[in-house]
Amino acid sequence: MALQSNFENFSMYGFAIDYPDACRVEFNSKSRREAGDVAFKFPDSAKIFLSWGELEKVSKRFGSAEEHADYSLDMMKKGKHVTNFERISRDTISMHTHKSSLNKVRFDEKTLKVFGRGKDLPREAYSLHVHCDKSNRYFVLYTMAPADSEGRVGRIIESMRESFHCH
Ligand SMILES: [Zn+2]
Repeated sequence: MALQSNFENFSMYGFAIDYPDACRVEFNSKSRREAGDVAFKFPDSAKIFLSWGELEKVSKRFGSAEEHADYSLDMMKKGKHVTNFERISRDTISMHTHKSSLNKVRFDEKTLKVFGRGKDLPREAYSLHVHCDKSNRYFVLYTMAPADSEGRVGRIIESMRESFHCH
């Protein structure tokens, strides 16, 4: 996929984000204003997801977007296909006045063993957790990509993050 792809705007239910025009957009048709998800799929296996839900549901459990992110990453680490989980970076940033958590992790995905042979696939995942009290929603922007696409996907998600408007 060309890195110099143009970005187009995706906007609905009061939020907006720019995505590369090389992507296929898969909108979950059950999505509502209160909760839903959309996937941006690249011609290769890389995918970027944006999901949202009611802020009340997570703010009861987590005092901050950072705690929410820590919990999500912990669940990911415990996944049965995940091994060699490693946190590469953990930053707290401001997104439209909301204190948000930006994380990058690396892990190996165990693949199914066919006839005794299996291979671990190195993966990288970026995530952004935003708690938006203005729209009473939380947003999670995350990606799943092969580790060899590190720089490319990192740059794309940075552009998408910068374009994101939660309210
Ligand atoms: Zn907001």
